Amino acid sequence: MKISKIILYDEPTVPEINLVSLKNFLEQIFPIVVETRENILKQSAPDTAKKIAECKIFNLRKDFEKNEPTEEEISFEESNFQDTSNTENIVMYDGFHLQKVLSELVTESENRKEIFHVFFTNKLTCTYDYSDYRYHGRALIGANPSIISTTGIIEAPAKPRAYYYELMTNFTRGVNVETVKEKYKGEYLEYHDPRLSNIIEGYLLQAIFYYETGQAFCENENCRLFNAHWQKDLIKSQLEIGRVCQIHQEILNKIIKK
Ligand SMILES: [Zn+2]
Repeated sequence: MKISKIILYDEPTVPEINLVSLKNFLEQIFPIVVETRENILKQSAPDTAKKIAECKIFNLRKDFEKNEPTEEEISFEESNFQDTSNTENIVMYDGFHLQKVLSELVTESENRKEIFHVFFTNKLTCTYDYSDYRYHGRALIGANPSIISTTGIIEAPAKPRAYYYELMTNFTRGVNVETVKEKYKGEYLEYHDPRLSNIIEGYLLQAIFYYETGQAFCENENCRLFNAHWQKDLIKSQLEIGRVCQIHQEILNKIIKK
């Protein structure tokens, strides 16, 4: 393997990530050391908050333009380094630019291709797509370091069509949003969903496959590398199936032996 060590960096606002469980998961598959650490922002440089605030996006239809952050925006980012009470952070950030800012925090001695870093964040990472000229929420920014966004996992794959339909039709009739949510409970992931850690295992595999082979995703919905656009497909591929397809199992066996 290219990788000889993986470092997982926590996002303290989302305890459901469960780094210890993810470390065990990876160590059962790969013959490598997995280390868990606190959030990389705890060792941030003085200008990190400003750089992160510069990654915020406001117009989904326009490609990245550096945000000129206000003092409030900078102190919001700063407070997030320490404060773990802000659990829902649906502010959108350009995923690649954020990746660059966070990767600068990795020390030189650990900035090596055989050490694979994974940052967890509750920030909603997005990437601009030139096929439809707009930003889309992403659960995974694949690179080294990789970013896995828990908000991206919850918000990027769409909820059931019927859920949106009922929300829209009931809206005019004054039916409570919570009632609709309750009806579809379990069919999509919610904040602090206990299934999150198991779902993340699949995104970790995608990140590692991408780094090792250049391919993160599989077309087969019965594979943990399936790039789910719907919550039901995500839950199916990661929880009901819960393994990689035959083709990817063979690739995995080769990666491990190399
Ligand atoms: Zn596959």
